[in-house]
Amino acid sequence: MTLKGNYHTHTTWCDGKAAPEAFIQTAIDAGLEYLGFSAHACFPFDDDWHMKVADYRDYFTNILELKDKYKDRIQILTGLEADWIPPATAPDYKIYKGLPLDYIIGSVHFGGKKGGASPDEWVGIDASTEHVAAGLKNVFGGDGKAFVKDYYERVRTMALSSDCDIIGHPDLIRLRNTELGFFNEDEEWYKDEIRATAEAFAKSGKVVEINTGAMSRGLMTTPYPSLDFLKMMKEHGVHIMINSDSHTPETLLYGFDEAQQLARAAGYTELWYLTREGWQTQAI
Ligand SMILES: [Zn+2]
Ligand SMILES: [Zn+2]
Repeated sequence: MTLKGNYHTHTTWCDGKAAPEAFIQTAIDAGLEYLGFSAHACFPFDDDWHMKVADYRDYFTNILELKDKYKDRIQILTGLEADWIPPATAPDYKIYKGLPLDYIIGSVHFGGKKGGASPDEWVGIDASTEHVAAGLKNVFGGDGKAFVKDYYERVRTMALSSDCDIIGHPDLIRLRNTELGFFNEDEEWYKDEIRATAEAFAKSGKVVEINTGAMSRGLMTTPYPSLDFLKMMKEHGVHIMINSDSHTPETLLYGFDEAQQLARAAGYTELWYLTREGWQTQAI
């Protein structure tokens, strides 16, 4: 079935490959009713894949102009995918205050030593395999379990202490495990981590996304999260949505059928989507 919308979309305002209007055209052609833009943000910093701090105002002006231009054909929403890098920045409305935000996706993209100020103390979790391998060795002394536990502790703390609306790619740590094999998802300690994280999601009341972004980039054959993790979320009553984390208009709806199959396999019968009036559900 056609989903109501996609809310995890990256354009040339950050590391996406096309301007917002190209995504809107694709969304309308595909029959989406809602499209949300979520430029990478880690205010007050930026880098080559996060939106430039100087561009924030222009980004929102651009999206709001398009929202008005296409208002009779599709509802456009303004969002950010904001990083959790304590104590430097968080996906909190107070950090992005004054901006006309409809929603914030909170994402953990970095692991590392607590409070580390040096880049040598951080690992980019969805960076290249080489970078993750080096970080695992240099920051965690090659201890894959410690790397994974650090990651999930960050995800849980973000879920419980920030006021973001959506949790992004909740088991991103799996991305480079296929090649690097630094943990085994079947081991009990790993299941304990994802169970505790599902409990934290439930307690937070936030919506968690099924994310097909690594599938469209050819890096994984299934979405985030794993079926096991999703089943635990279902057991705990966590609300879910499906997002493509798209960086090109061609991948705007990539993997949505597989993602729905995964949701159903975990026992889900409805998905959440965001409107100007708040969250609603559609049956799947
Ligand atoms: Zn992300
Ligand atoms: Zn993203």
